[in-house]
Amino acid sequence: MPDKAGLKRFREIEKMLKRFFSLFEDLCAHCFTESMGAIASGVRPHEGMCCCLVDNQVHDYWQPLSEAQEMTNGPNWAQPIEQNSFATSKRRMPNNGPCKALCEHGCLLSCMRPPSCSTLVCPHMIRVLADLKLCQNPKHDGNYEIDELLGVQSPLDTMYGIRSGNASSDQYVNALRALTERMRTIPESQRKAAISRSKSRISRSIRDGGGH
Ligand code: SF4
Ligand code: SF4
Repeated sequence: MPDKAGLKRFREIEKMLKRFFSLFEDLCAHCFTESMGAIASGVRPHEGMCCCLVDNQVHDYWQPLSEAQEMTNGPNWAQPIEQNSFATSKRRMPNNGPCKALCEHGCLLSCMRPPSCSTLVCPHMIRVLADLKLCQNPKHDGNYEIDELLGVQSPLDTMYGIRSGNASSDQYVNALRALTERMRTIPESQRKAAISRSKSRISRSIRDGGGH
C-alpha cells in the first residue's frame, strides 16, 4: 500500500517525465492514428502498433492503480474508464489490449498512471534519441525503461506500492532533469527533423507488420 508522501513524490516525478516526453511532440498521436488507420484498412493488429492498443496497464496493475487513484482522485476515479466505449468496441489486440483507459483522444488518466506508462521509451523514441546523439549505440531494438537510459534505478514502483523497499529519488530526478535539459537545448529544427524521420518509419513499420 503506498503512503501519501510517496504518492506526492510520485506525482512530482510523473510531471517531470511528462515534460521530458512532451519533447517528442506528436509522435504518440501519430503512432495511434497510423495504427488505427492500418487496422481499419485490414492490417492485422501486431505488437509494433501504438503501445496503448497492444498492452493493458490498467488491467495489469489494477490493484495498485486503484489505491493510488483513490487516494489522489477520490472514490469515483474509475467512472470514465467504466464508461469508456472505445476500448470495449475494439476487437482484441495482442497482450490483452487495448488498455481500458485508452479513448479516441488518448489516455483517460491524467495522472497517477501505472509507472511504466510514464517511463516507457519505445523503439520509435529511441530512434529519435539516437538521431540526436542522446542515446549512443542502443543495446537492443525493443522497449526501454527510462532508467536504462538514466543509469539510475527507478524509485517509482516503490512509491506506487508495487514493490517494497526504500526509494531514493534524488539521483533519479537529477539524471532525468539532465537528460531533459540536454534534449531541450538541441535546436528545435533538429529535434523536429528527427521526430519527423521517426514518424515516417512508424508509418511504414505499422503497415508492414511491425519491424521497427
Ligand atoms: S509505441 Fe511509442 S510512439 Fe507509439 S504510442 Fe507508444 S510510446 Fe508513443
Ligand atoms: S493507462 Fe493510459 S498510458 Fe497507460 S497503457 Fe493505459 S491508455 Fe496507455
